[in-house]
Amino acid sequence: MAVKIDKNLCNGCGSCKESRCMAVCPGNLLYKNEDNQAKIRDKRECWDCAACVKECPRQAIAMYLPAEVGGRGSTLQAQDFGDKIVWKLKKLDGSIEEFNIQNKLLFNSNL
Ligand code: SF4
Ligand code: SF4
Repeated sequence: MAVKIDKNLCNGCGSCKESRCMAVCPGNLLYKNEDNQAKIRDKRECWDCAACVKECPRQAIAMYLPAEVGGRGSTLQAQDFGDKIVWKLKKLDGSIEEFNIQNKLLFNSNL
């Protein structure tokens, strides 16, 4: 399904050589172009892990969802607040559904 990057929101993570989305992509699919904006090399190689979607501090990356999951043309964006991530499902008609997922650290205190 791949991701789309909003060039109006992406600022290339400032002057960092490697932006945050580039650093987390397990497929090394993202790069910065000459305008200092993130681009994806090959959408067919993206396996929709959503790591870059969660990592972008400007919510510039959205992930297309399969029609049977979110409806035709729907996308998913995320905003990380540290203790929770707010996922926004945006449908083709412009309506938005929000899902709040708590970030929980799981550990075994007996170890
Ligand atoms: S993390 Fe977001 S703002 Fe930074 S380069 Fe990637 S898309 Fe642009
Ligand atoms: S969704 Fe995952 S595989 Fe696809 S571009 Fe983002 S980080 Fe890379």
